[in-house]
Amino acid sequence: MANKPPPVVLAIGGHDPTGGAGIIADAQTLTSLGCHPVTAVTALTVQDLTTAHEFQNVDVTLLLRQCRTLLGSLPISTIKLGMLGSSATITAMAPILAQAALPLIVDPVLTSGDGSMLAEPGLKTALCTELAPLATILTPNRAEAFALTGAADDDSAAHKLLSMGCGAVLLTGTDSDEQADVVHRLYLANAAPQLFSCPRLPGSYHGSGCTLASAISAYLARGVELTHAVDAALRYTHDTLRDAIHFSAGQAVPKRWGRHDD
Ligand code: PLP
Repeated sequence: MANKPPPVVLAIGGHDPTGGAGIIADAQTLTSLGCHPVTAVTALTVQDLTTAHEFQNVDVTLLLRQCRTLLGSLPISTIKLGMLGSSATITAMAPILAQAALPLIVDPVLTSGDGSMLAEPGLKTALCTELAPLATILTPNRAEAFALTGAADDDSAAHKLLSMGCGAVLLTGTDSDEQADVVHRLYLANAAPQLFSCPRLPGSYHGSGCTLASAISAYLARGVELTHAVDAALRYTHDTLRDAIHFSAGQAVPKRWGRHDD
């Protein structure tokens, strides 16, 4: 008898050759959570586990052909967006994403962990005006939310993002050092934010944001409701960071493989 196919998730983002972040992180997360990853690469990067040295965007027409071909031939359940690199990529992708009308998880990648730019000028505006209205959920950290909105506090930044038309905002709290615990906030329209806290881990990690957004995509693809998907994805991500591997100096890589999550 034929095996039942797993949910298929389309991950669109940059390639990080270290395997810490980007498309490899997405594929590892999705596979370990019982989904089949299909991918379209927006940009190639040169990096080690300390610094992102440079990136080059992939030809947009090739990227569009990859996405159209995948969307036209596989039963894709959710789409996850990571590094997009340029406003031109967003402008070209937006109509295809609108037409696909699938749950869309957007990790608004602007920089790598060390602050190196992973986005050309103009990307922030395109992300806010063309992509946010299509997103089921945006998963910025506080620095990204502040950079996208110009706001200087959590609530104002999240509400500005919601007013751009996205369905939900998960504002991650790792980059706040105010509390002993990390507090993540899920904002939905017309509701008080829901708080999720977990113990703060020492050290820094390469690809934690990619892992989280991919895990949300996986749980949504498996039919889990949004708030529960966020909760489960945060717990999964915490576990991958707790068990992270130090391959060299620099950031540790979340251990997304060899897990038995269901
Ligand atoms: N996507 C790519 C291709 C990257 O290289 C990076 C960081 O280096 C990211 C996304 C964002 O990584 P993180 O999940 O650590 O925010």
